[in-house]
Amino acid sequence: MSESSLRRVRVAVEAPQHSGLTEPLDYLGPQDLTPGTLVHVALGRRDVMGLVWDDLPEGQDLPEGEQLPESELRPVGEALDALPPLSDRWRKLVEFAAGYYQRSIGELALAVLPPQLRDLDAKQLQARLKKLDKADAEAAKAAAAIEGAAGMPAALPERPALTAQQQGALDALAEQSSREAPQPALLWGLTGSGKTEIYLRAAEAALERGQQVLVLVPEINLTPQLEARFAERFAGRSIVSLHSALTPAQRLRNWLAAHLGRAQLVLGTRLAVFASLPRLGLIVVDEEHDPSYKQQDGARYSARDLAVYRGHLEKVPVVLGSATPSLESWQHALGGRYRRIDLTERIGGGALPRVRLFDMNRLERKKGVTTALSVPLLDAMRKRLERGEQSLVFLNRRGYAPVLHCDQCNWKSDCPHCSAHQVFHKEDRTLRCHHCGVTTRVPRACPSCGNPDIAPLGRGTERLEEQLAQALPGARVARIDADTTRLKGSLESQLAAVHEGEVDILVGTQMIAKGHDFRRITLVAAVNPDGALFSSDFRAPERLFSLLMQAGGRAGRDAAQAARSEMWIQTWYPEHALYQSLLKHDYEAFAGSQLHERMTANLPPFAHLALVRAEGRSVEAARDFLTAAQAAAQALPLSLGLLLYPPVPMAIARVADSERFQMLIEAGSRAQLLRFLRAWLPELHALKRRQKGLTRWAVDVDPLAI
Ligand code: ADP
Ligand code: ZN
Ligand code: ZN
Repeated sequence: MSESSLRRVRVAVEAPQHSGLTEPLDYLGPQDLTPGTLVHVALGRRDVMGLVWDDLPEGQDLPEGEQLPESELRPVGEALDALPPLSDRWRKLVEFAAGYYQRSIGELALAVLPPQLRDLDAKQLQARLKKLDKADAEAAKAAAAIEGAAGMPAALPERPALTAQQQGALDALAEQSSREAPQPALLWGLTGSGKTEIYLRAAEAALERGQQVLVLVPEINLTPQLEARFAERFAGRSIVSLHSALTPAQRLRNWLAAHLGRAQLVLGTRLAVFASLPRLGLIVVDEEHDPSYKQQDGARYSARDLAVYRGHLEKVPVVLGSATPSLESWQHALGGRYRRIDLTERIGGGALPRVRLFDMNRLERKKGVTTALSVPLLDAMRKRLERGEQSLVFLNRRGYAPVLHCDQCNWKSDCPHCSAHQVFHKEDRTLRCHHCGVTTRVPRACPSCGNPDIAPLGRGTERLEEQLAQALPGARVARIDADTTRLKGSLESQLAAVHEGEVDILVGTQMIAKGHDFRRITLVAAVNPDGALFSSDFRAPERLFSLLMQAGGRAGRDAAQAARSEMWIQTWYPEHALYQSLLKHDYEAFAGSQLHERMTANLPPFAHLALVRAEGRSVEAARDFLTAAQAAAQALPLSLGLLLYPPVPMAIARVADSERFQMLIEAGSRAQLLRFLRAWLPELHALKRRQKGLTRWAVDVDPLAI
């Protein structure tokens, strides 16, 4: 190859943000190297995978002097050109996300590709593709054989006749998808109002047009039924899943199926928002309010927000579904940016469970004893037992008790490495820190004064399970939380036991409040949900309300039982506005009052936030870094009009011996915030190098937890 046949090409490589490389790097490559092609390149002394990026637009070249002369550029290595290039639109999505969440294009682009892809050379890739071809051919042959044996095409799975509301919703969606630039739709419907059926029908229409469909779910293992319903409805179609629990080989295979246009439907968690889909025709985001759509490390992106952007980019309809939409989405619908579609009735006309607020102040207080379970609640559960119905008791705290305590000397089971207690787990007699994981044996006596009488304070699901078993002899009590579901497959088998009716009372954390289509549950109880009412995180009430609505939705899913379904809330604050809205199942009123509060306090969605977090080996290291960062910010003209809050310790200030501080930035406009961050963050990279003892820092745009 002669020198003249080479040209300057930009290649996105995985350089972590702190290396300060934010733009793709220049290499020399063949004239016809297409953007979107994977190539091996040298980075320093390493051989890394890179992605050929777009040339800078005409006239936007870096000034002479800032650009390496061509004579100093290194040539690109082997290209994986058996793989069709990642599309223009895909690159635009990545470029947007990198700019918005303040990461380098290369880091994000490579991070969202299947990890195994990065390690392949051209030959190995070709072998993979060949294997995939073979598997596809065999699947096609098998399908043909089944059809041949039956003498006709496989019968279409049965579909329920749509209700008038569902038909209206689908018409509205169809109208959107016929538009040049469809508006995102917010599908607001109670649990059991038939939202999933809408997803299925909308997907069917897209598949019939020959398009691909992307369905995002919050957590794949909590939504096995959704997956099953898609699989059943679209039997014979090619459905793949994309989530982090797949093996690297499965993930690559499924990703390739999507990228090659063979998978017709991709069902996945947040990372699937970056799936390469050449014929994308519809995006569904189920439970769009769910916090797990936000990535919590690396590039902290919101898959829901990116889904909306992707829909805009690709001009395809996006359906955001929820019974309790995020206040951001709700506000967009109020403002007309999203098209709201309402489903106001449960299928079969079932009523929502009757909400009963039990005022804990009414309990007789015996000295030193607090009752977790009020007598009326136990009575209500007993009634269910007699009728052979199930109850679900929900407490968002696992373990036996959040802390062990000595009342002689006031010793508490504090974690030596965190500003948090070690949680008492009775089953294996351990004290475990839920933040750093450190686990120790339960001491026989108080480590501080020798008192043998150390006692658990408070309660978690393990203790609740024990108390329920004591209070309701003969009842079959089961518990589902992160501790009981550690082993692969155990969640599935435990859920199956509930469905089979082998459990009378199910105890658990929020894991059991989500998604599951339990048929025999007629009572749901939240025994101690008050904590979130007074949290310093302004989103805590929103999360609590949606969690309780969702938990309540587990009851009475069978219309025949709906009338006697109840949702119990044990609270010290029955008059609280949140509970009063819940009493009426009135999301709209709740959202209205929350939005009013947010507007008055200038909080999202009426303001835009970014959070910078710093971790250091000492308080000073973390704090001084942010203080210096703040000074640097104030020196920037772009910070004018922004609110820069002073650095404060995080709610749990120390985790695993790391001191953690954060600093909040508030802006009236998104564009202003992003412009400022772009100017400011390079200075933080420089500051980091100078700050001794600082272990890491990160920026979170649109942070969810504060
Ligand atoms: P959601 O997703 O809003 O919770 P689903 O779509 O799961 O609601 O519907 C609740 C139940 O009603 C499911 O069992 C579903 O199969 C059933 N269903 C949905 N639409 C209809 C319909 N039009 N006719 C009969 N049953 C339906
Ligand atoms: Zn003691
Ligand atoms: Zn710890």
